[in-house]
Amino acid sequence: MRKKIAAGNWKMNTTLQEGKQLITDILNGLEQTPPGQKAGELEIIFGTPFITLPLAAELVKSNPQVHIAAQNCSNKEKGAYTGETSVDQIKSTGAEYVIIGHSERREYFNESDQLLAEKVNLTLKRELLPVFCCGEQLQVREAGNHFNLIKNQISNAIFHLDSDQIKKVVIAYEPVWAIGTGVTASPEQAQEMHAVIRNLLTEKYGSEIAEEISILYGGSVNAKNAKELFSQPDVDGGLVGGASLKADEFVTIINSF
Ligand code: PEP
Repeated sequence: MRKKIAAGNWKMNTTLQEGKQLITDILNGLEQTPPGQKAGELEIIFGTPFITLPLAAELVKSNPQVHIAAQNCSNKEKGAYTGETSVDQIKSTGAEYVIIGHSERREYFNESDQLLAEKVNLTLKRELLPVFCCGEQLQVREAGNHFNLIKNQISNAIFHLDSDQIKKVVIAYEPVWAIGTGVTASPEQAQEMHAVIRNLLTEKYGSEIAEEISILYGGSVNAKNAKELFSQPDVDGGLVGGASLKADEFVTIINSF
């Protein structure tokens, strides 16, 4: 059975002290209202800024349901790349996941499918787990090209992986028009795209593997809409930006499965 996942993407928010407080508040909230899913089936991920990773990993280490993600990594292994953070460095903090290909990275830092494929490869090489993001802009959807675009993003960046590797990837479908806008994809729109993605996985890797891969929805998920989105058969959870910065709201989202 594939994992259900509630993942937060804090983006470039929170100081070290604020991050510590946020994690503490969420963990306290979870103690008071423990998630309904059994421990093995639901994972909670905090995608924190790099500076917070070691502290975050330390804070969650006694809770096997909770994992830490970096929001990016370098496509280089090590060396003279000032300001970059390598997968080795991420691994050494205790983080287990790396978010790769977020639309903000694609748009503001010109990250190409080729570059993302390199990051995915390095992440897996270092036994970290990629959360691979894909998503279309509004004009692409309006032109009716959204299925094609997602197919290209996925096939260019992760379909070179073998069957053992692809099973380690979490896919996050995040329509760009829904990120940070307050406009959420309808549960039907999310389910439709997730089914298309699972179908692509089935064609490439077979249905047994496709059924094992968690596909998250991201884009203005909040405490009010999470339940309906997560109840769709191919929506295995959410990648949550703004609402993951509010402890009460994120706990409610976690409890929406
Ligand atoms: C995100 O950053 O991945 C995201 C989905 O943001 P938000 O939930 O704020 O739309």
